[in-house]
Amino acid sequence: MSAAENLGDLLHRNCPNCETDNSDRPALSYSWQEWQLRECGACRFVYLENPPDYADFKVAFAWEKNHGDRKVRMRKEYPLAYGVSKAWRKFYRWAVRKPDKLANRINKWVLPGLVIDVGCGNADRLLSLPAHYETSGIEISKALAEEAGALLATRGGSITNLPAVEGLASYEAGTASGVLMRSFLEHEHKPIELLSHAARVLKPGGVAIIKVPNFSSLNRRIMGSRWCGFRFPGHVNYFTPMSLRTMVADAGLATVGFGFFDRFPFSDNMWMVVRKDV
Ligand SMILES: [Zn+2]
Repeated sequence: MSAAENLGDLLHRNCPNCETDNSDRPALSYSWQEWQLRECGACRFVYLENPPDYADFKVAFAWEKNHGDRKVRMRKEYPLAYGVSKAWRKFYRWAVRKPDKLANRINKWVLPGLVIDVGCGNADRLLSLPAHYETSGIEISKALAEEAGALLATRGGSITNLPAVEGLASYEAGTASGVLMRSFLEHEHKPIELLSHAARVLKPGGVAIIKVPNFSSLNRRIMGSRWCGFRFPGHVNYFTPMSLRTMVADAGLATVGFGFFDRFPFSDNMWMVVRKDV
């Protein structure tokens, strides 16, 4: 059984950034098995054209089970590169002892009040927030949402068991101090719609914190298909610093935290803080 059969129907997407239909353009060489990556002819955005349909409950379930797919694939196809990369990450973590980038940004930018974590998983991030934040999470997986709901209830938090766009749409406008989208936007079929809902639910002065893989990173240029940012079919959007800036601006959010080290070319990821200014 192929991965596509396993995951149900495949969708067709136009460019999520500018809506151009790129189905007549050749797939990028980074494509893998049946998963077709395209570069938009109009705006150059790179995206997965034929993702599985996550509206299907069974698909969401399969996604949970397939989450570790890349590790299995890397270990099988590139055992040496996988081993070296694993050892390097271990050494790097030991040598650098990285600060908690999310917590630092929350402390710096997010005013006391409601914080919504989009794709909150088992609510580990929300549970670690200081007590002056009211916590709420959106999670598509029923099993994770149940686990998160029970844990969050201990601090008065709540869970919405819906896909991200519908989940954010269910919050009242102008109520949130912060929206967290850590390692989420690369999975979202409709990123502009999600960002627009983030802009809608934020209070004036409220911020969204975004972390996504950086398609312009040096590692992607060096590693090519073996870059850790390629995940099939989970990652459906491949942002560059420029396309991320454009998209948040189109959604009505102002970029306030996106310095050189937030989009450091040696890092595989980038971090952005955006604010609702009106
Ligand atoms: Zn486009």
